[in-house]
Amino acid sequence: TASIGVTLAPEDGNTSELLIKNADLAMYRAKNLGRNNFQLFTPELDSKAHRRISLEAKLRKGLEQDEFELHYQPQVQANSGMLLGAEALIRWRHEGQLISPAEFIPLAEESGLILPLGAWVVKTAAFQAKRWQDAGYVFDISINLSSRQFVGQELPNLLREVIRTTGLASGRLYFEITESTLMEDIVKAQQTLEELRLLGGRFYLDDFGTGYSSLSYLKRLPLDGLKIDRSFVRDLESDTDSQAIAAAIVSLAETLNLGIVAEGVETVAQLALLRSMSEQMIIQGYLASRPLPVEQLTRLLQEGQPLLPPNLAVF
Ligand code: C2E
Ligand code: CA
Ligand code: CA
Repeated sequence: TASIGVTLAPEDGNTSELLIKNADLAMYRAKNLGRNNFQLFTPELDSKAHRRISLEAKLRKGLEQDEFELHYQPQVQANSGMLLGAEALIRWRHEGQLISPAEFIPLAEESGLILPLGAWVVKTAAFQAKRWQDAGYVFDISINLSSRQFVGQELPNLLREVIRTTGLASGRLYFEITESTLMEDIVKAQQTLEELRLLGGRFYLDDFGTGYSSLSYLKRLPLDGLKIDRSFVRDLESDTDSQAIAAAIVSLAETLNLGIVAEGVETVAQLALLRSMSEQMIIQGYLASRPLPVEQLTRLLQEGQPLLPPNLAVF
């Protein structure tokens, strides 16, 4: 699994520092492409590196200056439309714009900034969960985790501290993890999940169906549920394969006694199909609601109304 970066002298440079830096950039590109290959240095790699360094500095500053916020996307019971919980999704308010996590999470992961950022997410979400709990709502919060957060003891320590300082009831915090997160070090991941579980953490496997969908993980790990990836939900109406995959994931979940959330539900037709697959189905998607700032979600909780159209017969 070696990764090799290649640079040419004198075309790409003629000092040892520059050549080693170039070769390094090319090597990182080879690593990003999945290792076990080589890449040649190109000037474009260099300008990309500069852009990344400046974005990284802005992220770091954004964290110091409190530029991040969490939005919460409702998760609702498919049949009744009632609000069960919400997924916390990070946003970056930078120079008047709300920047999507897709644009900065990968960089935060590579640079290690995901550790302080991820800790901020866990604390902020837990404090919010406690506020909703104190207001009398029985409501679960889901938090996304990155693989970097599984290294070392930080995560169990963080959760212990957060539970102690918030006084949050056990079992109200869910963590969403992807298979690739677990893959990096399955033994360590299993150990971390078990420690978090003792602290009351619950786990959903995110983007299920897009990765290895390994059955042995499902058996080995202390999981509470699966999230059917948006790509299958999107094609439910048009593609019988997606339908078959979604149905297979649902029956797998039911057999293993796992919860099931369908992501990215946008249409009534998708909802009807998902409802027909399981009584336990939980829905997350624009059809029910977009991710919302705290005040708007609080309003939904106060109103207590179903967020989905009623269950109509489908012919
Ligand atoms: P994800 O965990 O798969 O989150 C679901 C994404 O789908 C969210 O995008 C959400 O806004 C979007 N979505 C939900 N319903 C619909 C729908 O009906 N239609 C469409 N087209 N999209 C829908 P978002 O908020 O941009 O987040 C993107 C990704 O960034 C997340 O994917 C997650 O992997 C990552 N992310 C977000 N917040 C955090 C965080 O606090 N920590 C970490 N490590 N990753 C995060
Ligand atoms: Ca997620
Ligand atoms: Ca997902």
